[in-house]
Formats: sequence, structure tokens, C-alpha cells
Amino acid sequence: MNTFSVKNRSTQLSQMAQNSYDILVIGGGITGAGIALDAALRGWKVALVEKGDFASGTSSRSTKLIHGGLRYLKQLEIKLVHETGTERAILHQNAPHLVRPEDMLLPIIEGGSLGSWSTGFALWVYDRLAGVKSEEGFEMLSKEQTLEYEPLFRQDLLKSGAIYTEYRTDDARLTLEIMKSAVKEGAICMNYTQVSDFVTENGKVTGVKVKDILQNKEQTLLAKCVINAAGPWVDTLREKDNSLTGKRLHLTKGVHLVVPHARLPLRQSVYFDVLDGRMMFAIPRDEKVYLGTTDTHYQAEIDKPTTTKSDADYILKAINAMFPTANLSLADVESSWAGLRPLIHEEGKSPSELSRKDEIFVSDSGLISIAGGKLTGYRKMAERVVDLVGEKLGGKGICKTEHYKLCGSNYENPDQISQFGMKMYQKFGKLIPTMKYIVYLNRTYGTQTEAILTYALQFHAEGMNNELAPLAGEIQFCLENEMTATLSDFFIRRTGMLYFQRPEILPLLDFVIERFRLFFEWNEEIMQQQKATFLQGYEQVLKFEE
Ligand code: FAD
Repeated sequence: MNTFSVKNRSTQLSQMAQNSYDILVIGGGITGAGIALDAALRGWKVALVEKGDFASGTSSRSTKLIHGGLRYLKQLEIKLVHETGTERAILHQNAPHLVRPEDMLLPIIEGGSLGSWSTGFALWVYDRLAGVKSEEGFEMLSKEQTLEYEPLFRQDLLKSGAIYTEYRTDDARLTLEIMKSAVKEGAICMNYTQVSDFVTENGKVTGVKVKDILQNKEQTLLAKCVINAAGPWVDTLREKDNSLTGKRLHLTKGVHLVVPHARLPLRQSVYFDVLDGRMMFAIPRDEKVYLGTTDTHYQAEIDKPTTTKSDADYILKAINAMFPTANLSLADVESSWAGLRPLIHEEGKSPSELSRKDEIFVSDSGLISIAGGKLTGYRKMAERVVDLVGEKLGGKGICKTEHYKLCGSNYENPDQISQFGMKMYQKFGKLIPTMKYIVYLNRTYGTQTEAILTYALQFHAEGMNNELAPLAGEIQFCLENEMTATLSDFFIRRTGMLYFQRPEILPLLDFVIERFRLFFEWNEEIMQQQKATFLQGYEQVLKFEE
């Protein structure tokens, strides 16, 4: 029986309480997942707890880029550019279906932050610092060439352009595959399990008290070393540890909007100047384009960042200024998300000027906290933290994640992705509605596509029509292998449908609920509760409060 399913949770939670761990990680975002994988691969006995779903914090609310950070070059963060640039290539090898190179177009405009010469120079330095492969090197473009790439640009301001390579990802899926890999390597990772307090002995942290949110049960977990990787909540836990002194977090909010591709028919991703000195992305994904982001100070409830009307207006205004024929309004927005950057406070700096570097704090109680950083740097952040644990506990060797293939990445080499898609098409063709669907499965689940379509085949053989069997296969896969507990887990973190296919959800909702009911044996009351909770989130993404 597979162990990464909610069906095995109670047994696993009791096992966790009976055991004692070398390392206990708090937080199931990309930082925590990365630490759990690195530590498990080095042979430590590891447990991880997450208070919501995996990746439900910032790690499902980013711009979804694994990037070398061109803009950090402007801030002269040379080491950061070098490290994140090098990491892109490594992460592409670790999970080629989830970290993919793609062209990014950079228009150079009158009054913008970069001129043609300085852009060329910056990209040249960036390519060298980030170790960019020659076939992915940048190219400078004339005004006419830039317009050929993207005819929707505002022509009166456009001077020239450049094209360079960025890497795309799906943040939540990447986090999940890292988490699943950690479990495969022996870690025990539990979602919906909240740390309410620390357990101490002679002033040293020896464990945590946790609450199982799904069953409302409390228990104590013991560990030699506790790591606080709680993203925006890092300081909340440092406060419980009485160690919130010195450096603190500075949270900034970033919002993204999703519009139909037909309303902004971009030919490729674009990174452009907003006239207040910031920069913004517009990124096509399937039939949609997502736009963002904002960067504003945030002091409200950490659990519930939302998109306000002024956030949405700021993004739409910036898009309409750059692509005047789009004339986008709030009515065009199909979905949105808002996330919090857990940055380190620096006196007098604006949100965009705050460094994206990570920092580790070790308190007198021995609690190790890590904050700051980016998706892109998660592997190196994990390496630094686990090295530190090695110094503290003694031994357990060097980091082994550099050449590790994450779950779903069983391609012999990254060039095999489309070949694998063709193989799946040949094997399961009668179940595959369109070639686009196989591309979606391949990019979302990688080589696990085969397991999904095998479930689908089984449902089809049992009489399910071939329009619904693939979706039922996806649901079954996520329930059995990805610790999926709620409808939101499926529609947000496992598939991204709430963001990128929101209008298609309602016609499918009862079918999806029925698949969950069959798996969990939900009664009518639970079904109605689950549906109501999901629908609240479904409405929230389009509720732009003042
Ligand atoms: P989180 O993902 O927030 O994870 C922390 C987890 O801890 C949460 O899931 C939370 O529920 C859990 N937790 C908190 N308290 C407890 C508790 N008491 N018990 C148990 N669990 C607890 N980076 C990039 O590289 N590329 C980008 O394109 C990019 N774009 C971004 C755009 C925006 C708008 C934002 C906000 C960030 C962006 N980032 C990007 C940065 C990146 O998303 C974050 O650095 C990263 O996701 C942080 O991950 P984390 O695991 O540290 O935090």
C-alpha cells in the first residue's frame, strides 16, 4: 500500500508520536520540503509537519519562475545572481518537465529603467554570472524585430528589445514532487498538522506539540533538532521560542491576475517596465495569461492575503499602458492569487529594494529558523541548513540533491519529454481527448502520467465514458499518492485549475466530489461541508475588496 495518502494518516501520526526523530521540520512549503529531502538523502531520520496543505503558503502563490534574477543584477547582488542562475540548470535536470526553459521578451522603452546599451551589458554579465548555456544566450532586437515578436506592444514608447531565457515552473507541483521524493527517501511528511508550541528541556527545544487539524487531536513529537521553515510565519514561531530578537521578517504582498489568452493574445512571455520604476511579467499558460506582480508592505492577517481592488487596478493599468489595444478591465479577470514574501527587514528600504537573500537564525534553545530566499534557491538553502544540522548533531556527509531525479522525472534525459508524451499517446490514445491534454499531463505529472492513464483505462473498462475517465484517473492518482485531503488541495495545489481553468470547474464539481466520496466514504454532511468550503475559495479569487 502506498504510504502518501490521507487514508494512512492516523497510523502514521501515531507512529510519529511513538518515534523520536533526528530532524523535525516545521513548514511544508518549498523550503521545508527541500530540507526534508536533503536530510533524508543524507540518512537522517526526518519528520515534517505542515499546518495546511503542502505548498498552501507562499509556495503556490509566486510568479512560478525559476530564474536567475536579472533584476538582482540592478541591485548588484552578484552572488545571488550567480547562485540562482546556476541552480536553474540543476533544477532543470532534477525535474525537466517542471522546470522548463522558455523565451522571455524584454521591451526597451522610452523612460524605462534600462536603455539598449545597458540592457545588452546587463544581459551579457547575467549570462556569464548565471552560467547560461550558449544556446540559451540573449539576443538584442531592433524595434521592428521586437514588434515582430510581439505586435501588441505600445509602439510610440518602444525603442528596441531583447530576448533571453527564463525557466518556467509550477511552484505547488514542484513543492509536492520534492515532498514526495523526501517521503520516498524515508521522511515522514504530514499536512494539516499544526505546531502549537515547543517542547523544551533545560532550555533546549526537544520537540513540538502538534494539532491534527483534520481530527482535532493533539500530540507531542520529539526530535534532536527542530527546524523552523514556516515562511511568512517564521517570526510567529520564533516568538513562541522567545527568540524574536535582532533581525525580523518584513512581509510584502504580491498579487497575480489571470485573463483569457484571447483577451491578451501574447506570443510569448514578456517582462516589461511599469512606469513607477518596477517591472512586471505577463506569462501565457495554456489558454490564459497571468499578470503580475505587485510588491507592497503587508501587516494584516498572515493566513489570508487577498487581492484588493487597488492591487488589481495597478496591474490592469500597467498592462493597458504597455498593450493599449488590450483595454483590459476587472470584468476580464478570471482568477487571481495573492502571496506573501517572507523577506528580512532592512531599515528604510522599499518592498522592491529588500534583498531576496535567505538567512539562518539559531536561537539559544537550538531552534534553527530559515527565512527569505526564493523558490529558485530552495536546494542550496536546504543544503546550508542540513550542513548546519550535521555540525550540531555530528556527521552524515554531504548534500546529494544535485543529481537527484525528483518524483515524476524518470526521463533518461530532458530531451525525452515530448518523446514520452508520444509514447503515452500511442499507448492510451483512445482516452486522450486532445494532444494538448497529454502535454498538460506530461507537464503537470511528468512520467507519472502513465499511472494516471492506467487508472483512467481501468475506469473506462468499468464503464466510465472516455471524457471523464482521464479526470477520474488524475483524482485517483492524487488521492492515493499525493496526500490530497480536500477539494481545494485538488483544484489549487495538485492541478492549478482554480487559477487557470476556473470557468471549467463548476460543470465538473459534482463529479469530482463523487470521486472523493467514493475514496473517503464521505457522508452527505461532509460532502456539503467540503463543497461549501471549496466554493468560498472559488468566490474569493474574484472578490476584489476595496
Ligand atoms: P511557504 O511556502 O509559505 O511555506 C511555509 C509553510 O509553513 C506554510 O505552508 C505554512 O502553512 C507552514 N506553517 C506555518 N506555521 C506553521 C505551524 N505552526 N505549523 C505547521 N506549519 C506551519 N521565487 C522564485 O524563485 N521565483 C518566482 O517567480 C517567485 N515569485 C514570487 C512572487 C510572489 C508574489 C511571492 C510572494 C513570492 C515569489 N517568490 C518567487 C518567492 C517564493 O515563492 C518564496 O520564497 C517561497 O515560496 C517561500 O517558501 P517557504 O517554504 O519558505 O514558505
